[in-house]
Amino acid sequence: MAQDRRAFFLDYDGTLTPIVEDPPKAHLSPNHREVIASLLADEKNFVCVISGRAIEQLKGFIGLKDLVLAGNHGMEIAGPSISYVNEGALRAKPLLKEIAEMLQRKLNDFQGVLVENKGLTVSVHYRMMPVKRHSHLKRSFYREMEKFSASNTITITRGKKILEVSPNVVWDKGFAVKWILASLSDYLLKERPYPIYMGDDETDEDAFRALKGRGLTILVSPRKGASEASYFVKSVEEAYQFLGMFSAIP
Ligand SMILES: [Mg+2]
Repeated sequence: MAQDRRAFFLDYDGTLTPIVEDPPKAHLSPNHREVIASLLADEKNFVCVISGRAIEQLKGFIGLKDLVLAGNHGMEIAGPSISYVNEGALRAKPLLKEIAEMLQRKLNDFQGVLVENKGLTVSVHYRMMPVKRHSHLKRSFYREMEKFSASNTITITRGKKILEVSPNVVWDKGFAVKWILASLSDYLLKERPYPIYMGDDETDEDAFRALKGRGLTILVSPRKGASEASYFVKSVEEAYQFLGMFSAIP
């Protein structure tokens, strides 16, 4: 049976952990870690955490071995017997460093803004900033980014209180999930696993689309809205209730 094996793809912020004010402090709670650990303990489950964060940071936050991690929206993938880095993104690394340093300088006057160089992407977090200054920050950000955007080498995306600069490569969470699934059926598992994807933000929509008709896609959100996901759960807690049910299946 194809459904005997499952491949979980789980976004991190807003899915496995509530979105926190201070993004560098989003550690996984011990009871949540246990749910993921029990999923991993079942050999029929493949588990991948897929996030916009860098792999190194995810490792520190989650602290579980044998977990496959897809960082920078899937542009880097690492885990037992699996490894990938998007070449185009790798080539853009010096440019992204330059952009991160420029943004750090130019946005320095905005209190509560955090510019993060994640190697293959750059994030500008503004959740900690007073709401009334958000539009001013965004205007400044887009102005500073103009010359880079015009060159067509980078793209800008928006998420929940985050602006992101990514290399202009044809790759996203959807491509990453498909790449991992293909590698799994080739090398690691004899049977094709049934994909289950959970996520809460814009970049997860790419994965929802990629898995249409092929797996279970679940949005984590109080409202279903205009999502491409086929189902939704209302909160991080409900996401864990769902995952807990799976890990309980003998
Ligand atoms: Mg998220």
